[in-house]
Parts: sequence; structure tokens; C-alpha cells
Amino acid sequence: MSRRLRGTVVSEGLVRGEALVVATGEVYVPEGRVSENLVEREVQRFRKAVEATRFDITKEERAARERLGEMSEIIGWYLTILSDETTLLTPIEELIRTERFTATYACFTRFAAVAKQFEDVGEPLASRVPDIIDVKRRLIAHLRGGKGGGVAALDRLKRKVIIIADDLTPSQTATLDRDRVLAFATDRGGPAGHTAILARHLGIPAIVGLDHVTKMIRSGEQVIIDGTVRGEVIVNPDEEDLHGYSVLKQRLQARRRRIHLDQDRALTKDDVEIEILGNVDRHEEVLGLRQLGVRGVGLFRTEFLFLGKDAPDEEAQRAIYAKILRDMAPHTVCIRTMDFGADKWDHRVGGSREPNPFLGMRAIRLSFAHEPFFRAQIRAILRASLEGTCQIMFPMICDATEFRRARALVDSVRDELRKEGTPFDERVQIGAMVEVPSAALTAESLAAEADFLSIGTNDLTQYVLAVDRTNPLVAEMFVPYHPAVLRLMRMTVAACESQGKAVSACGEMAGMADCAPIMLGLGLTRLSMASGRVPEVVSQIRRLNRDACRGLVDRLQDADGAETAGHLMASFLQHLPGSKRRITR
Ligand code: PEP
Ligand code: MG
Repeated sequence: MSRRLRGTVVSEGLVRGEALVVATGEVYVPEGRVSENLVEREVQRFRKAVEATRFDITKEERAARERLGEMSEIIGWYLTILSDETTLLTPIEELIRTERFTATYACFTRFAAVAKQFEDVGEPLASRVPDIIDVKRRLIAHLRGGKGGGVAALDRLKRKVIIIADDLTPSQTATLDRDRVLAFATDRGGPAGHTAILARHLGIPAIVGLDHVTKMIRSGEQVIIDGTVRGEVIVNPDEEDLHGYSVLKQRLQARRRRIHLDQDRALTKDDVEIEILGNVDRHEEVLGLRQLGVRGVGLFRTEFLFLGKDAPDEEAQRAIYAKILRDMAPHTVCIRTMDFGADKWDHRVGGSREPNPFLGMRAIRLSFAHEPFFRAQIRAILRASLEGTCQIMFPMICDATEFRRARALVDSVRDELRKEGTPFDERVQIGAMVEVPSAALTAESLAAEADFLSIGTNDLTQYVLAVDRTNPLVAEMFVPYHPAVLRLMRMTVAACESQGKAVSACGEMAGMADCAPIMLGLGLTRLSMASGRVPEVVSQIRRLNRDACRGLVDRLQDADGAETAGHLMASFLQHLPGSKRRITR
């Protein structure tokens, strides 16, 4: 019988294949001691193992650089761990000398202690623990006389497989054989981790956070990784599953039909043109957008720039922003200032584990709390602004007062640049995301202050419905077309219309073909989405009539809850030409 497991899609795709279950977790080393006269030999052995591990990692980093560009820095972080004399190397030597531990046990025990300390401190250090464990495993493998890779099995596979693991470290992910690894699924992990970022970059479908996937699957079993919408792993698919798989696969292939917005305009049946913009996490994604004819970036999530080993300083950021602006010119690039906190962390902005991180120090709040860091980002954006058409957008703004505070900071940076004689584009527009209910409820005053607003449906849904967007236990309740969410979106659009300000949507909902009728019915004409979503959304828009969409939204916002809204949507979608669809999220 087939079994289904739910997780979080961190890299989209749909594949079917044979599972390879790999244990990447902890190695165990029993306590062991050497006699006094062998102590120095043991220290030498340890130092040699460090060198050998360093050699392996340097080699991997070089290979990864060719495939991953700047993302290879994530592997470079391993070298930092291996050079840490104070926390790791010297204490391990001391353990060998004073306790007469074997080098292997000294490594095992010291790394375990450091990993525990990192875990206790909380984020961002806690998320580095898998890296520490990986370095430990490599060192121990060398000390035991084997090869230090530990990941060798994954970079030299004999046939195509789907990797099932407890967790994959960034370095393991970076060295995966792209031709043989069809996908991976892991017990642990979240969407903002380095592993997730790398999987997307490599184009390997991945579902993480599956809890016990390694216990539920055996090597050799057939699995389907459905990372299209829900994040489902289907183990031992039955006939019905296989049929569903091939229908979905065909649909995806048809969807992937090349489109170019110059010829295939996003035009409704009644001639309303919808502006399609792109969401990007990295500069490299701009190329994909240009190939689709996308004219502009509606959301550049800058926090991802900081997740490598070396966070870009002001100058490095300027260079990145300049490049993206140049490559998109003359079209607009909307650069969102850092949205750290909640599920995304960077040690430079600090913070500690909070009881309710999504309601705590996040996004603009964290930026205000770390003003020099925030100012450096604003300076970098403004200094790059003459390279193209640039907008600045603040995340998680609560109301006009908070927006004014952020805008004042930009004004003060502008003054500073003028005094220095540093040129920048005086026309850079400043906008806010509407993703907190209070911002939507006070959208009139916010729209009066801001140059533009963009609706972040991911957070808006989370905060309106009190449903943690990262919690699989309540994933069913995360319904962006819930009448309450739609009412707030409508208020936001109406406020922008009355203030003559531009408004767009940039959450995942903007890239869901099934939600396109809602977007149009709300009066939105600017949608920003990941490039992979563009073809299907454009084909959907071409089937729609805006008046009919308005009627749908009127009915939806009067619905008594998610279930009724779901029925209304399903019935609307079923009556579209050439469409027999289920609602996908
Ligand atoms: C959103 O919340 O909808 C959004 C676009 O921002 P993020 O997903 O980065 O929180
Ligand atoms: Mg958000």
C-alpha cells in the first residue's frame, strides 16, 4: 500500500525513482585513552587529519565554485570551523595531552560540546550545528584511516536515485551529483537553510522537514517526490498514485512550454494587461526572468545575500545591487531591505531565540535595532541606484508612523550622500509591504505616505489567520483566499487607488494560477512571482475575463470561511475554458 508523508518544498519539481536511504548523521566514538608515551604521536595524528580534511574541503570548494559561483562560500565556512584554534583545535590538543584521550575521542567529545553550546545559544548559531557535525565526521573518518569525505557515496553514485536522509549539510548538497540525484527528502531542515538555497540553485527538487522519512522508507523502494504544490513524498505508489503522477507530469511539461511575454502578453479576454514581475533571491535569477520577457523585479529578497560565509559589506552590496539593476534596466528592480528574524537569521544582526519569533524582532524592527547595518544597506542601494531603475521597499511595516521612521532614515542617508558628493538617483521610490493586518487596516494613511505598496500574501495570510506559515501541523489552515485575507487585500487596493499610488502583490499567491482570478478581481494589475510560476499564471490570465473575476471576489469576500471559499473557487475554475482543475496552493 502506498504511504504519504508531508514536508516543506524547498526546491520545486516532480520526480519518481528509487530511494537511497543514507545515514548522514552522527558517528559514535567510544571513550579511549593512549599511554603517556603515545600522546605526542596522537597530537600529530590529529594535526595531520586536520590538514587532510582541509585539503578535501579546499578541493570541494574549488569544484563547487565552478558550479555554484558565490554560493560556494557556504563550503568555505567549513574552513573557518577547521581553523578555529580557540574553540576547537587547541582544546582538542589539550584533551589529548591532559586526559590522554585518543585523537578520535578527543575530536568526538570536543565537537559534541561545541555543537551543544551552539544549540543552547539558539539562532543563528544553532543552524550551524549540522556544519559542525559534518566537519567532525570528516575529521574522524581521516583519523580512522578512511577517506574524509563521508559524502563520497553521494557524489559518485552508480545510478539515478532519490536521496532520503536525516539531514544534508550544505557541503553535501553542493557536491551532489546533479545528473544522478533526482531529488532529495530529509527529516530535518527548513526553507531558509543553506541546504534549501543550494537545492534551488542546483535545480534539484527537495522536500525537507519530513520528520521520520528515513524510518519510513527503505533503500530500493519506489518513491514520488511531489514538490509541485504540497510537498508530498509518496512511498510505494499504487496505480492511482502513478496515474496522478503522469497526469501532473504532463501538465507540468505543457506548462513549461516556452513563453515570451513579448508575444504571449498577459492579457485578459477583455483586454486588461497584467504586468508580470519577478521575485528573486539572488542576482543569477535575473537571466531566467529576462528569458521569459519579464519586465522588472517586484521583490528582491536581499536577506539571502547574507547567508554565505562572508556577508557583503556596503561596497559588496553596492556591486550586487548595481549588477541586478544594470541587468534589468530599463525595467524597475524593487529591492526589499533585509527581512531577518523569524525563520531567517544572520549572526551580524544577532538576536536570541524568542518565544514567538514571527511576532518578535523581525524585518524592519530588526533593521531599526541595528541601524548601522541598516544604513549600510540603504547607502549601498542608493549608491547603485543610477545603474537602472530602483525602488526600495520595507518589509513588515505596521503603519504609516513606522513607515515614516524608515523613510526618514533613507532621507538622512540621502543627505549624507549629498554632503559627500556621492551621486545617486534622486527619483528612487520608497514603498512598503502590506503583510501585517494593521498595515492593511490603515492602508489609506500608509498609501498617502508611501510611493507604492506591495501585498505580501504569505505573511498577511499567516498573521490574519493566526497560522504559522512554517508549521506543517497547521498547513491545511493556511488559506490565502480566505475571505478575511481578501477583505484586507481589497482595502489595500482601494486605498492605493484613492491615493493614486501603485500597488502590486508579491506573495506566493500572486504566482498561483488558481488565484489569478482573485488577483484580477481585486483590481490588481501588477503581480510579482518566481520565474517558474510565470508560464502558468500567464496562460491562466489569458483565459480570464476581468468582470467575471470581480464577481468571483464579491462572492468570495462574503463567504463564511475557507471551505465555502474553496467551493466557490473550484466552481469558478471548472467553468473556465479548457479547464478541469483542482485548487492548488
Ligand atoms: C510575503 O510575506 O508574502 C512576502 C512576499 O515576503 P516573504 O515571503 O519574504 O516573507
Ligand atoms: Mg513577508
